[in-house]
Amino acid sequence: MKKLKDRVALITGGGRGLGQAIALAYAKEGANVAICGRNIGVLEETARQIEAEGVEALPLTCDVSSSAQVHAMFEKLLNHFGTIDILVNNAGIFRSDPAGAKDRINHLDLVTKPGPRYSLGITKSLTDEQWHDMFRVNVDGTFYCTREALRVMESKHYGKIVNIVSISGISSRSSHSPNYAAAKGAIVALTRSLGHEVAGAGITVNAIAPGYLMTEEFKNGLYNAMNEDQRQRLLQLVPLGRLSTVDDYTPLAVFLASSDSDYLVGQIISPNGGVVIEF
Ligand code: NDP
Repeated sequence: MKKLKDRVALITGGGRGLGQAIALAYAKEGANVAICGRNIGVLEETARQIEAEGVEALPLTCDVSSSAQVHAMFEKLLNHFGTIDILVNNAGIFRSDPAGAKDRINHLDLVTKPGPRYSLGITKSLTDEQWHDMFRVNVDGTFYCTREALRVMESKHYGKIVNIVSISGISSRSSHSPNYAAAKGAIVALTRSLGHEVAGAGITVNAIAPGYLMTEEFKNGLYNAMNEDQRQRLLQLVPLGRLSTVDDYTPLAVFLASSDSDYLVGQIISPNGGVVIEF
């Protein structure tokens, strides 16, 4: 029996990386899947893969940091599918400044070294734009999509909202980008608050906090800029001894979107290989 048969799901940032993997996992479980992002070519390619699972796909262009674009996207989604059952707030950025990778890698080095630590000045050199960009996409985007989805979910007394956060939002141990940590931390707090607010309306809100996840974005943004020694240091942070892949998260994403998780409210679940255990 397929766990999401005939459900309608929207996965933001569903064209690539973790969002794409979740979109395909939901399609395999029988859901009709809408995906959004800013690049229609990437979305259409993923839509073809979704349809290959025998369900409907709807690629939607949308910058989630714009409230107007999110509203227009939901109008299209509702015109097409008539409803929404599952929202995955996955769209996110974690480098507002590609040139900042060096600072983050140095900080990662620091985290792995014993002895006194000191700030490398990441925060003091952040610009207003870098700070706000991080919040606009990650936090504002999550809020705008959630607000639209709730209007539908409340009326049918059913809904599943899954927020993709990060270990950076739950622990300073892994933090090497303060604006990213602050933004994901805000979504952690939102998940708990909203979970409490809407549980009585038949809507569950939970979050997945991935650990170090080898997507193209992670590779290009951080991993490729590291030397071998730094890569080994990164691995040493993970008790399981390997970085994660999208397959480490998709079963959990299916669980949180299905009725199996009906009694789970406002929880942050973190498959991270042991990097962060208590939080
Ligand atoms: P990717 O960069 O591969 O994917 C991000 C997705 O978000 C893309 O589809 C992108 O599409 C979309 N996106 C970005 N900005 C916007 C925007 N303004 N409006 C709409 N869509 C947008 O990242 P990952 O798959 O690696 O990460 C997915 C999620 O997991 C993110 O929330 C990330 O913070 C989180 N995460 C990732 C970790 C990792 O190590 N990779 C670790 C912990 C958490 P497009 O650019 O075409 O708009």
